[in-house]
Amino acid sequence: MTVTIQHTLKTVFGFNEFRAPQQDAIERVVAGEDVFLVMPTGGGKSLCYQIPALHRNGVAIVVSPLIALMKDQVDALLANGVSATCLNSSLTSAEVGRVFQQMDAGNLDLLYVAPERLMMPDFLERLASLKLAMFAIDEAHCISQWGHDFRPEYTQLGRLRQLFPAVPVVAMTATADPETRKDIIRQLGIEGAKVYVAGFDRPNITYTVIPKQKPFVQLGSFLAGRRDEAGIVYALSRKRVEQVAERLQQAGFSAAAYHAGLPDVERRRVQDAFRKDDVRIVVATVAFGMGIDKPNVRFVVHYDMPKSVESYYQETGRAGRDGLPSEALMLFGMGDVMTARTLIENSDNAERVRIEIQKLNAMVGYAEALTCRRRALLAYFGDQRQNDCGNCDICNDPPQRFDASEQAKKALSCVYRVGERFGMMHVIEVLRGSKSQRVRDLKHDQLSTYGIGSDTSASDWENIIRQLLHLGYLAQDFTRYGALGLTTAARPVLKGETQVVLGRPRDAAETVERGKKRAGGRKDYDQALFDALRATRKKLADDAGVPPFVVFSDATLAEMARSRPTAARELLQVSGVGEHKLRQYGKTFLEVIAGYCQESAEKSVSRLSEKELALTISDTQKETLKLCREGLDLSEIADRRGLKSTTIAAHLEELHNLGADVDLLRFVDAEKVLQIQARLTVAGPGSLSELREGLPETVSYEDIRLVRAAWTSEQHG
Ligand code: ADP
Ligand code: ZN
Repeated sequence: MTVTIQHTLKTVFGFNEFRAPQQDAIERVVAGEDVFLVMPTGGGKSLCYQIPALHRNGVAIVVSPLIALMKDQVDALLANGVSATCLNSSLTSAEVGRVFQQMDAGNLDLLYVAPERLMMPDFLERLASLKLAMFAIDEAHCISQWGHDFRPEYTQLGRLRQLFPAVPVVAMTATADPETRKDIIRQLGIEGAKVYVAGFDRPNITYTVIPKQKPFVQLGSFLAGRRDEAGIVYALSRKRVEQVAERLQQAGFSAAAYHAGLPDVERRRVQDAFRKDDVRIVVATVAFGMGIDKPNVRFVVHYDMPKSVESYYQETGRAGRDGLPSEALMLFGMGDVMTARTLIENSDNAERVRIEIQKLNAMVGYAEALTCRRRALLAYFGDQRQNDCGNCDICNDPPQRFDASEQAKKALSCVYRVGERFGMMHVIEVLRGSKSQRVRDLKHDQLSTYGIGSDTSASDWENIIRQLLHLGYLAQDFTRYGALGLTTAARPVLKGETQVVLGRPRDAAETVERGKKRAGGRKDYDQALFDALRATRKKLADDAGVPPFVVFSDATLAEMARSRPTAARELLQVSGVGEHKLRQYGKTFLEVIAGYCQESAEKSVSRLSEKELALTISDTQKETLKLCREGLDLSEIADRRGLKSTTIAAHLEELHNLGADVDLLRFVDAEKVLQIQARLTVAGPGSLSELREGLPETVSYEDIRLVRAAWTSEQHG
């Protein structure tokens, strides 16, 4: 072979380097070996069969369960100049005939088919007469009854190995569960396959949990800071989905509702509009899931708490498949916990109720965590990490820490003493020396750990034990009443060899404040240029009848906005720009970039430096600015200057508009900021008195003026 796989990666797909397991996997498939890829969503599985398809003779047969997914993959390949097509029930017989012609002529590199189609006897016969490059089986867990998405039509795929013993198989899944994995290998008959298991961490997702207070206001203010970004808002009931979607629409957001109770056509319409960036926000029940392979979902909000950590992780995982910074925000309220509990307890399958309650408790534990969220999540899936992630609300603004080594030791040894057979509540009772009948019946009042923790309150113990779970010193067995057990990490703690540092609980108001501060979001590229590129992409995509991400990914646009290429040669350096796309779109995008750079050069002439600012502003404004920089609040500045607060607020607004660096929101109470922002999203930046309507009495004109000014400039980048 003269062309290397690195060359194909760059020229066809436009990427500069392989991700961790890709190169090795691709080399094996090219050599004709079987490969089994267990990689998280967005990990880059597709290239592992797409590149080999270009390096092996014959056509690669790709099995995929959903028509929408196939179509996107095919569109994306065509956009890169690769010859690919799909066969599914939506094609007319004439179209099918054309596909067969292409196959027979040997002009096709990849063919996507649904499993039931593939296994039809005359289709198999047709394949037998052709040269086949490989079988690639996407969503391979669908073959297993152990998996969460069993599809009977997948079971037939087990015959491929017997029918085509010489054709390599690439199986792919994002399912973590080891039982399912073994089953997939057995059923496909690919016992010799090299298995690649990539970690399940999604480092580009920022996890945040805030206490649910006024959920719609909180959602509104989150969304207001993310004007053009696409995202999903999950809510638990159909009714709530419809209410939230409607209120968002009334507030001027591009939003749509999606749940299983809607007619098929409507659901398809919403899904399609979302893929094409025509609808920005989908408010949905969990029914909106499978088939969302849109790579540029920038945020997933849980308006209500999900039922388990598994669902939470799967749902948040729909954000950021393209690897760009994305957010997972959950609103957490005790009311939801009660509702969920009642729903679960309504079932009459006692075993299921028990398991689901345990899972719910683990979810609550996560929401209340004081430890790094990512560590807690990964520990739940059995992946213990040594380090905090630096990219979650807890890491970004950690709670106070204290040395909990002694307490940890007490808790762990108590878990051990009760035989690792009891749940958290019982362990706490023993620690606190409860005189309950049950403790006495079990003779746990005679254990050495009985009463050794009576100086710590039950809720503090709960907190400590939760953190020990999240940090991986303890594990919880959901098939045995949530019984606590020790992990290997517990040993050194018991022996006093490791120090355990835990976080102190903090109150709700504080967390909201943190959420607000964090919501700003930092980007290392020019947002306005990105927006211009995105608009161009949307137009090209609509003209071609494909979703925008097929033209270029957000990651590619972001890199263009960062590096601002001025010539074709430079554009080709951008990850995601291959030769085919360069020919098709290069000129258009280069023009947008050049136009933007010229415009901003002109603008920057008019932007004021600190020196120029000093010359422009009046003496009285100068004085206000000085006091503002000393950290005084609004009434203090007003007092000091003997002026009204309204005057000072007007100064601050003008200073801000002139480009002075003043943090306007600092002068307004956090709760009011949220209320005003929500009002602005509904009403737009109107006059103060217009905005004043519909806001609580306590909100003053100064408050509105300051928040409006900050909001307006944020909207315009
Ligand atoms: P998966 O099928 O594992 O969910 P995909 O194959 O769809 O993931 O890849 C996710 C995203 O990552 C896509 O946008 C893809 O173009 C991008 N990608 C894959 N491999 C690379 C790479 N080596 N360099 C840059 N981007 C990549
Ligand atoms: Zn973290």
